Amino acid sequence: MPDCIFCSIVSGEIPANIVLRTAEVVAFTDLDPKAPTHILVIPTEHHENAASLAVANPIQAAAVLAATEQVATESGLSDYRIVFNTGAEAGQSVFHAHAHVLGGRDLGWPPG
Ligand code: 5GP
Ligand code: ZN
Repeated sequence: MPDCIFCSIVSGEIPANIVLRTAEVVAFTDLDPKAPTHILVIPTEHHENAASLAVANPIQAAAVLAATEQVATESGLSDYRIVFNTGAEAGQSVFHAHAHVLGGRDLGWPPG
């Protein structure tokens, strides 16, 4: 998708600190971390949000979820939060589906 930052990270056009790359997903550290560990897991295909990804490509949706566990474990986390912001009002600013993997501090509940 032209002008999509995350498609550009998948293609390598925009650099990122990549912690995992498979045929289905890319995971990299967030540029502006909201917790001591903050990793983004994205599907290699462009879909606007998590639900549209799941409908269009359930294999990649499952791969994103499985990768959250892998990157969390490899970061030394047993407890972590997975967030899929969906829509601008929910805080989504990049409209390429992505899981936030957050941990390394007490995250509290419910979120603000
Ligand atoms: P959203 O707000 O859409 O749920 O999350 C987008 C996330 O992408 C934000 O946490 C933001 O810090 C991160 N982000 C935006 N642009 C870049 C970038 O170019 N590189 C990296 N590593 N993270 C980015
Ligand atoms: Zn994209």
